[in-house]
Amino acid sequence: MERTLSIIKPDGVRKNITGEIIRRFESAGLKIAAMKKIHMSKETAEGFYAVHKGKFFYDELTSFMSEGPVVVMVLEGENAIALNRKLMGATNFKEADPGTIRADFAESIQFNVVHGSDAPDTAEFEIGYFFKPEEIF
Ligand code: GDP
Repeated sequence: MERTLSIIKPDGVRKNITGEIIRRFESAGLKIAAMKKIHMSKETAEGFYAVHKGKFFYDELTSFMSEGPVVVMVLEGENAIALNRKLMGATNFKEADPGTIRADFAESIQFNVVHGSDAPDTAEFEIGYFFKPEEIF
């Protein structure tokens, strides 16, 4: 069993496809171990994406992530990190496999609807960034 952090980004929430995205996770066998809707401050988004600090898209990305509410979830299942990344599709929606969330709903490399942890160490940091242990079931 593995856990990963998923975020439905402000563009995904705005498109009203939260249920559709969760349906895809559950259909693939992932369980929702924790979930909440939050509106990140710019500072919270900057802390979350600290790994990208200094990159040309950092300011735009953290503004985007704090411009509206998001749904944050802990997904649990076998190979949850890789499975979630497979369901999401490539960062650049133009390179995402057909049928993935980003291929179906993303509008640009930045407005790509979902976030998912990319490795066990980042998953641990990202889950702890939003959830207390007692909020995860
Ligand atoms: P992810 O793990 O697939 O989300 O991709 P990264 O960790 O590389 O990038 C984090 C997020 O930054 C992406 O999901 C995009 O929203 C955004 N991003 C990545 N690359 C670019 C870029 O070249 N330009 C812009 N504007 N945003 C980007």
